[in-house]
Amino acid sequence: MRGNSKTVAVIGAGIVGVVSARFLQREGHAVVIVEAGNPGEGASFGNAGCLNGSSIVPMSMPGMIRQVPRWLMDPLGPLAIRWSYLPALAPWLVRFWRAGQPEKVKAQARALRALLAPCLDVLRPLAKEAGAEDLVHRRGHLWVYRSEESWRSERAAWALRRENGLCWEEFHRDALRELEPSLSRDIVKGVLVRENGHTTNPQRLVSCLLEAVLREGGRLERARALGFELDGARLRGVRTEAGLLAAQAAVLCAGAWSKPLAEQLGDAVPLETERGYHLMVREPEARPRIPIMDAERKFAATLMEDGLRLAGTVELAGLKAPPNWERARILLQQAHRLFPALRENYPKERFSVWMGHRPSLPDSLPAIGPSRRSPDVIYAFGHGHVGMAAAPMTGKLVAELISGKPPSIDVKPFSPQRF
Ligand SMILES: Cc1cc2nc3c(=O)[nH]c(=O)nc-3n(C[C@H](O)[C@H](O)[C@H](O)COP(=O)(O)OP(=O)(O)OC[C@H]3O[C@@H](n4cnc5c(N)ncnc54)[C@H](O)[C@@H]3O)c2cc1C
Repeated sequence: MRGNSKTVAVIGAGIVGVVSARFLQREGHAVVIVEAGNPGEGASFGNAGCLNGSSIVPMSMPGMIRQVPRWLMDPLGPLAIRWSYLPALAPWLVRFWRAGQPEKVKAQARALRALLAPCLDVLRPLAKEAGAEDLVHRRGHLWVYRSEESWRSERAAWALRRENGLCWEEFHRDALRELEPSLSRDIVKGVLVRENGHTTNPQRLVSCLLEAVLREGGRLERARALGFELDGARLRGVRTEAGLLAAQAAVLCAGAWSKPLAEQLGDAVPLETERGYHLMVREPEARPRIPIMDAERKFAATLMEDGLRLAGTVELAGLKAPPNWERARILLQQAHRLFPALRENYPKERFSVWMGHRPSLPDSLPAIGPSRRSPDVIYAFGHGHVGMAAAPMTGKLVAELISGKPPSIDVKPFSPQRF
């Protein structure tokens, strides 16, 4: 090992954890990944797989609040709240609403662009080394609209993308059908961002990266992390169900479950979970070549290795409530309207459903940076809707911070102490 190399405990084997571990190894550190469940089976399991440098539009936008009642009243709508959870959720909602002020939104978008734009360039070499290059593609991402009016209703989002240097092409009727023949004739406009990419199996991508970590001498500890042992501000180790794991540095990347561990280090981070669902159709009758976002219904359709994945919706109900599988089944009804070749119902052997916990901070930016009590513990959580795309640069930043190198991009906007 090199002179300044450390033993680093990486808490959480989601996409952020495995990418961080790979970058730490490249810097000469020894890594132990601590995982409470099965690696890659948190939010990183069932997402839409989009690796979009264009995902820079924060969730809280000016004027969004006006749309919320309509979304909540629509049983097929993209947003649901469990009312029993509202008292616990209220402080986060207030922060979320405040984050949607125009000047704040501009700053959030700039920060997200810096984090997301290099996504494919940073990820591809890692995927290649891990034998997973076949899982990462650059074919663009297509937003589709049923009317010019609905396209115009998103002009603030597209203006933000333009301000941040994003380019796109617009397709109408026949040209759109030629680009993506599976789409319904109700779709009148498509907007293609060519720089975007996707993975055709997020979970297998995590597994391949984890295997690469283990091949390079990393270790996987199957145990829950319970807390930290500090000597003053210096880290001595991570307390786990399996005992104390001695480490000179740690990365907290336990996704939506990171909050109680950060609290132990003096950081009251307003982390919530935006639960999302997917429904996968095996051997689908529609096979879109490019990942598609239904801009009105707010779900993505991505052709994966093992079927067509319809993913999206936001449900605010916390970490403990059981899934409401109706939220997943709704996606199929929506998708039938987008791809007429799909059925509205399938026998159970033809589809599967999943629910996952997006780790979300109210300003749509992750927390990346040292903890309040110890510079040895680096946070890397709260990536919300964009964790797959943000993980490559996050992992790079984590390794730079732990190695005492200047970070590749400005990390101030992601300060865990900004709240
Ligand atoms: C429906 C849906 C669609 C999405 N689509 C996209 C998309 O297209 N593109 C995109 O970029 N993002 C997307 N996302 C978001 C993305 O999936 C997440 O932001 C990302 O997976 C978060 O990764 P993570 O590594 O932080 O967390 P996770 O993948 O949740 O991993 C955290 C890990 O930490 C472990 N853990 C928790 N507590 C402990 C503990 N105490 N000790 C040890 N281990 C612990 C968990 O078991 C888990 O394995 C989507 C999310 C959803 C739900």
